Amino acid sequence: MKKSLLPLLLALLCAALLSLPALAAERVEVRFFDEESGRYGPALSMGEIHILLDGEPLVSDVPGLLWQVNGDSRTMAPVRPLAEALGAEVLWLGQTHQVVLRRGEDTLVLTLGSARAAVNGAEVDLPGGVPAVLALADGGERTMVPLRFVAEQLGARVDWDGANAAALVSSAPAVPGVDRPFRVALDAGHGGSAPGTVNEGYAEKDVNLPITLRTAQLLEEEGCEVVLTRADDRDVDLYERCAIANRAEADIFVSIHSNALPGNPDFQGTFTYSYPGSVRGAELARAIQSAVCAAAGSMDRGLCTENFVVLRETHMPAALLETGFMSNHQELMLLVDPAYQEKLARGTARGIMDYLNTLLPQ
Ligand SMILES: [Zn+2]
Repeated sequence: MKKSLLPLLLALLCAALLSLPALAAERVEVRFFDEESGRYGPALSMGEIHILLDGEPLVSDVPGLLWQVNGDSRTMAPVRPLAEALGAEVLWLGQTHQVVLRRGEDTLVLTLGSARAAVNGAEVDLPGGVPAVLALADGGERTMVPLRFVAEQLGARVDWDGANAAALVSSAPAVPGVDRPFRVALDAGHGGSAPGTVNEGYAEKDVNLPITLRTAQLLEEEGCEVVLTRADDRDVDLYERCAIANRAEADIFVSIHSNALPGNPDFQGTFTYSYPGSVRGAELARAIQSAVCAAAGSMDRGLCTENFVVLRETHMPAALLETGFMSNHQELMLLVDPAYQEKLARGTARGIMDYLNTLLPQ
């Protein structure tokens, strides 16, 4: 019995070793060019990172490097093979020590040793302040750039395979709803010192908010990421509402309001707006309008287009829902009723999901 334990122990040891992450990646001796002194710095020992582009190894005399800097590790990639493989043109400006990447309409400028880059003319901070650097390694001299930042700017995405010390670059951008959750920006109209419509003591801002929060909850249950422009009773500037959605790179923007027609208390029903000429905005509006009217049983007043700030300044398909008329007593009583708000939220979430599902690859 005792003898038969040895092979088992060896097998266990083997399994344990195999399951360890490949911490012992190949080491490479690297010297970085110091822009201030104008000479190469001391030799540093760095982990080598395999860069695979759509499954194929990126061919270069200087490999990908794992640079430990400020307690963070960053993958540096040789810029020319990376950028060219992603369809970008690479220009080197010797006088200013800059590398310019051009792809279609987009231009990215990196300056050696600088923690800032220019993306289509706008200055941005590089992640972790890690700059592009000139590196000497394995006998080659290459401009190395932060892999994830540059790849993403060139429309690619980067995944990390820790077990194999490999960065997996995919030239196709992440597909919303497949590679990452759909991101929905929801905007509860008005708030704080801006009540919106007020009738019979009810303020529009207090109707819009619970419908929006409940819609957010339902969308999250469907697996969406939700970005709110406000989650409580506060002032938010219209342009800031758009900036919140734009910064979050939301896939769609939906603003939730309630209507009023003071001169005509008989008028009621649901409208949904999109920006004039926005085809996708109109599709989003149509999906929301029909699902809300079906769920709430409200009068379908149809679709409209309007040059609203929140429809115009948002960079994604956008719609503005007018749930019903607070100037109509009957509809006002419904709009302030939590049970009816629940129906509106369910309809809004349904319409949003109906639209998002049309974006999924067939
Ligand atoms: Zn409003």
